[in-house]
Amino acid sequence: MNKPDARPLLLLNPGPVTLSARVRAAMGGPDLCHREPEFADLQRAIRGRLLQVYGLDPRRYAAILMTGSGTSAMEAMIASLGPANSRMLVIENGVYGERLSKIAAIHGMSSVPMTLKWGEAIDNARLRALLDEHQDVSHLAMVHHETTTGRLNAIDPIARLCAERRVTLLLDAVSSFGAEELDFPGWGIAACAATSNKCLHGVPGTSFVIARRDALGDDAPQRTLYLDLATYCREQDNDGTPFTQSVQSFYALAEALEEFEEQGGWRARHARYEALAEQVRSGLLALGIRPLLPEGASSVVLNAYHLPANVSYERLHDHLKAHGFVIYSGQGSYAKSIFRISTMGEITAEDTQRLLSAIAALLR
Ligand SMILES: *Cc1c(COP(=O)(O)O)cnc(C)c1O
Repeated sequence: MNKPDARPLLLLNPGPVTLSARVRAAMGGPDLCHREPEFADLQRAIRGRLLQVYGLDPRRYAAILMTGSGTSAMEAMIASLGPANSRMLVIENGVYGERLSKIAAIHGMSSVPMTLKWGEAIDNARLRALLDEHQDVSHLAMVHHETTTGRLNAIDPIARLCAERRVTLLLDAVSSFGAEELDFPGWGIAACAATSNKCLHGVPGTSFVIARRDALGDDAPQRTLYLDLATYCREQDNDGTPFTQSVQSFYALAEALEEFEEQGGWRARHARYEALAEQVRSGLLALGIRPLLPEGASSVVLNAYHLPANVSYERLHDHLKAHGFVIYSGQGSYAKSIFRISTMGEITAEDTQRLLSAIAALLR
């Protein structure tokens, strides 16, 4: 535990994020029963504001709220909207793409993996060939921002392929929603999974799926009790909830969304992250620390870097933690070779400057 008088740690891991004072304070709101009208008001406000993030029409799209981390939204999306008798193509270029495949397998869906090296760009010609080969593919699931490496997968060309072939597009936008472009109507996104505690700066506990209402057909056999999107949507449209929601996390999300709007919405958040990421990137390059991905391939949310020579991840992590920063390791085969820095949350240019000074001090 942090000593109470110590300066709080700044989180540079990809969620949960460092909270603003007002979002933290919002969690202390009044005790509330989820069957009371005050809860209905809170839920309605959050659902409306979530659609507003990308200017979506509530008659065509629904924001569906659930209590659980981002993975619960991924699983709800796949289990509720994945194919029953056809197949789903899943693009894997990191941990989260692989997780989409795992979810499909657990729910008994037949999937076709398009497996790439972690961090590799998606080859659209190869994707086209795979779709040619597997004519029974009706759905395509993929990750927008693959947090494993920081790669922002380009959706536009894939969306065009999906539209051409009437393939339903399901996106994991857990680490991009609120800070990267998501063109729901233009890309024909049927649904996307996201969470409160990444680019929206809320607390962990609430995740959500934005779904096109016409994709939420009630005719498919229900494959999950707790994560069924049609059930959640029906109840939430009637101001109810099928199960207890994390009320305090709802309070925080409502406040975070208000703050988000006041700060200028997703474009302003994109610009803010971009400036911070660029500052870190150029500062680290000056110290001889190279990014994992080529220029322009990363999201503004998170960048991965090669560990400097002769510095283990543990040493870098512990040194930075002693200076007030929590960074993030690589996963799997990258566990010993990279580190990751996210600039989501209540982080300023002054903070990132101190981070760079602390890294410079370690390398001296
Ligand atoms: C964080 C994240 C998730 C969800 O992880 P949880 O630990 O369940 O919150 C899913 N997909 C991506 C791309 C993520 O970055």
